[in-house]
Amino acid sequence: MIRITLPDGAVREYQKGTTALDIAKSISEGLARKVLAASVNGQVWDATRPINEDASLKLLTWTDNEGKSTFWHSSAHLMAEAVESLFPGVKFWVGPPVENGFYYDMDLGDRTISDDDLRKLETKMNELAKLGNTYVRKEVTKADAVSYFEEKGDEYKLDLLQNLNDGEITFYTQGSFTDLCRGPHIPNTGFIKAIKLTNIAGAYWKGDEKNKQLTRLYGVTFPSQKELDEYLQLLEEAKKRDHRKLGKELGIFTFDDDVGPGLPLWMPNGTIIIEELERLAKETESEGGYKRVVTPHIAKESMYRTSGHLPYYQDSMYPPMELEGVKYYLKSMNCPHHHKIFAAEPRSYKDMPLRLAEYGTCYRYEQSGELFGLMRVRCLHMNDAHIYCTREQFADEFRAVNNMYLRYFKIFGIDKYVMRLSLHDPAKLGQKYVNEPELWKETEDMVRNVLIESDIPYIEVPDEGAFYGPKIDVQIWSIIGREFTLATNQVDFAQGRRFKLEFTNPHNQAETPLIIHRAPLGTHERFIGFLLEHYAGKFPLWLAPVQVRILPISDKFLDYAKTILQDLKKADIRADVDDRSEKIGKKIRDTELMKIPYMLVVGEKEMNEDMVSVRRQGIGDLGKKTAQEFIAEATEEIVNRRSF
Ligand SMILES: [Zn+2]
Ligand SMILES: [Zn+2]
Repeated sequence: MIRITLPDGAVREYQKGTTALDIAKSISEGLARKVLAASVNGQVWDATRPINEDASLKLLTWTDNEGKSTFWHSSAHLMAEAVESLFPGVKFWVGPPVENGFYYDMDLGDRTISDDDLRKLETKMNELAKLGNTYVRKEVTKADAVSYFEEKGDEYKLDLLQNLNDGEITFYTQGSFTDLCRGPHIPNTGFIKAIKLTNIAGAYWKGDEKNKQLTRLYGVTFPSQKELDEYLQLLEEAKKRDHRKLGKELGIFTFDDDVGPGLPLWMPNGTIIIEELERLAKETESEGGYKRVVTPHIAKESMYRTSGHLPYYQDSMYPPMELEGVKYYLKSMNCPHHHKIFAAEPRSYKDMPLRLAEYGTCYRYEQSGELFGLMRVRCLHMNDAHIYCTREQFADEFRAVNNMYLRYFKIFGIDKYVMRLSLHDPAKLGQKYVNEPELWKETEDMVRNVLIESDIPYIEVPDEGAFYGPKIDVQIWSIIGREFTLATNQVDFAQGRRFKLEFTNPHNQAETPLIIHRAPLGTHERFIGFLLEHYAGKFPLWLAPVQVRILPISDKFLDYAKTILQDLKKADIRADVDDRSEKIGKKIRDTELMKIPYMLVVGEKEMNEDMVSVRRQGIGDLGKKTAQEFIAEATEEIVNRRSF
């Protein structure tokens, strides 16, 4: 018998050679129908693989990331089986799961593949899925594996085999398709109930443009048709809310070939949003006792040697420029500059915590292929700050940072979020992690406690901490359910030492401060990209570039419109007048399209009664008000940063 420990701590005994699927069945048939794979002693395994020793076991289903990626990777095998049956002689490279589905790279010889073919492949995949073929795992010797693929004539798989040795080679077969793969896979193809092949692309073999171009087929699959339908609907909605499309339509940002890829130019409307976000950050940080600093965009090589950015982070930095025989780098992070400000004056425990904030401009070298709208750029503005504190102050400081996040989430209507707490692995102290066992334990415990106390949803990820301390990645979901990584908070016990930062403690001894890196609003680039999708371009009043547009019914009322405009401007409301000689219907439609929150329609009646007719974007007529009434209400909405 072997002993199996379940996630709730329960220990059960099973026959040696039992499988995760058997164990699931012993709990309930319903559960067994959902089990896609299993984590056995921390490794993801086939649910059908025999377990021969005591183990801790977690059954993985669609709701687990590993379950989902096993499902999608297994679907890539199913797609390959369908491709092979429709296009015999095809050769395969690799077929991994991706964020939303999977792909497989293949060499189709002289054939090209069309959208029509994708539909045929989907039909074939559905047929094959219904057969419920088992994914059969088999360990093979290198010699047998080589001779199998030599016979098949697949030089790509032979290339993969070169780096593998006896004892680490497995084949997986479902139906008539056999693949070289280390697994794991779902129990059988019957789990795959809904299939959509989404895209055909070219991809150089091994990502090297000197190599042959292969065909990359993308797809996504689900355990039910309902989930596929929901996914396709989400895609439609996401297309309408695409930040690149909205950014252009609303005059938020642009790119120019002469400026360079990945370097956004913020247009006047985008700049207003930036300024409003910074105003929010400044107010919040000032309340939280932060001090603002300004630092240059470049620094000498020597500083980045001290910080360790060189050589470890060199690939993500712009190449240096040389001046008077010294190399200067564009800053890729603000931390080293802030550390120098800490070090500029002698510090005592009375100066702590010291919180230095800056909306810092950073430059990062991202590969051209990785650039994507505002989400992946080469120039970014970060809502950065560094908190230098004592060990005793750490928990309170970390709690305050968390509360700041929660406050922002509320303002922006972000209802779904999760914090991923990445921890160290004690076995790797001194190698992957700074060798400070006590500090690791102490800070990890404090961070965990704060997360529990504040009732923040979080997950713990072992062995993914940063080199210099535990790390918290903040994931948020837009209103349509798409996930974004907003920011990373880090605890840092290493940089203080590298920069020889010190303060005098109450016993008159020199001590190194703990540092918290935090950026709750992430970067302007990513956050505004997120907000464009989240609000579908319909910004709340306080963020809207133009808050109010006045629409005179005809030129006769232009002067009255202009006096209203003056009143609005005096009240610090961003407004303009549509003075075109267009019909009022068209003026309203155009203003709606520009997603301007309020329209004030003025004509004969309004002028005679000294009123305005108020319309709200997407809602319609709100009735007549005096200009002063409207201004009072709008001001209240702006000042409280309310959503309508
Ligand atoms: Zn596989
Ligand atoms: Zn930092």
